[in-house]
Amino acid sequence: MFKRLIFLVSLFLMASSVLFAEQLKRAKYVFLFIGDGMSLPQRMIAQNYLKSLGGDDLLINSLPIQSITFTKSADSLITDSAASATAIACGEKTKNHYIGVDSTGNPLTSTAYVAKKSGRKVGIITSVTLTHATPAAFYAHNSNRGNEYEIALDLVNSGFDYFAGGGIAQHDNKNAKSFKGDIYSLAKNSGYSVFVGEKDFAEISGQKKVIAVENKGGAMPYFIDKKDGLRLADFTRKGIELLDNPKGFFMMVEGGKIDWMCHANDVATTIGEILEFDRAVGEAFAFAKKHPNETLIVITGDHETGGLTLGFAGTGYKLYPERLKNQSCSYDSFKNKIKDFVKSNSEAVFDDIKPIIEKSFALKFGAPKDEPMRLSTAETNELKSAFERLKKNPDSSALANSALRIFNNKAGIAWTSNAHTALPVATSAYGVNSSIFSGMFDNTDIAKNLKAVLEK
Ligand SMILES: [Zn+2]
Repeated sequence: MFKRLIFLVSLFLMASSVLFAEQLKRAKYVFLFIGDGMSLPQRMIAQNYLKSLGGDDLLINSLPIQSITFTKSADSLITDSAASATAIACGEKTKNHYIGVDSTGNPLTSTAYVAKKSGRKVGIITSVTLTHATPAAFYAHNSNRGNEYEIALDLVNSGFDYFAGGGIAQHDNKNAKSFKGDIYSLAKNSGYSVFVGEKDFAEISGQKKVIAVENKGGAMPYFIDKKDGLRLADFTRKGIELLDNPKGFFMMVEGGKIDWMCHANDVATTIGEILEFDRAVGEAFAFAKKHPNETLIVITGDHETGGLTLGFAGTGYKLYPERLKNQSCSYDSFKNKIKDFVKSNSEAVFDDIKPIIEKSFALKFGAPKDEPMRLSTAETNELKSAFERLKKNPDSSALANSALRIFNNKAGIAWTSNAHTALPVATSAYGVNSSIFSGMFDNTDIAKNLKAVLEK
């Protein structure tokens, strides 16, 4: 009886998936945006920040379909970016650190390859390095995300049409076991035109296969540190221009540095990266408005990072997102400023670095009690003791961590981790077939749904 029931249920599921595939319309153009480390708290603080400055909602928060997506990997409730990107790209759970392969190391097929097979052109864009876990899961197969040279070889062999954003890490790693030469030379030999930096970027037009990077081997700079120059939206817009063709395209765009600054518990820099990501989505949205019956846009995150909370014991029921606008540099840049200052001023005392702290976070030493950014005696002492430790050990992390925690708390923001968490993420969708992304589902369902769409 039980077996018969299972048989009937399987029959029903098979029939409904056929029905599901039949009901899909053809989406000529498919965009997948992934905010690395971006869950509900990250999206909400960016939105509250925009609103506090008189702005509108985040575009990604205002799309008609808003859903919940679970993120666990095959071997942990808390996923890393490799396993979650593999789930989102290929539709199967794998272990943390695995890229485009299942838990036993067998290669999986990503949505990007399904798109290519369908005749669409393929673009892979990221604000971190092109060989980082999230973009890699769409073109590479490796059971170690750290093998970035080997991953880059897969990039060259993918035959995809457009790679853009951050550079290719380890592109000339002569110590790599399978070293065959600089990746950029190999890419040129395989028919790619390579463009490095802003001046080169202006020259892109009409080439068949393109690699366009902000710099050769690293991530793009944080928006808070460098507001001019090439941004994620520029690479997305250029991708649309290059990939548009009668058979359509699939484009994956990652906002990769959202995650990095959540690891550092730096909320203001995180917000800057989310706004940059939102602007890149805006490029796809503008395109979709011109091609309303042919375009699908899906936006998701791969996991939450940092255990970000909107609310803090010290501010009770109040959140002050507008105070975050006072931060003028990223965690990384602050650390470097302090390190450089101490290096060139070996006799420096705490009073000497106060101006750097005040300028970076608008925190105020010795201010009156009603000044919201006033540093209390306890907070000043914490910073001072971190500085004294820095003088003995040139690592400026402790001082940067203290300054940021104090600054974030004044905005009502707190964090519980420097790693990822098991919190689900939000998935948003717009356009043709977007309703199949409704409800609560697993991250593998994103790939399954996208593959069904791309097979049309
Ligand atoms: Zn991470």
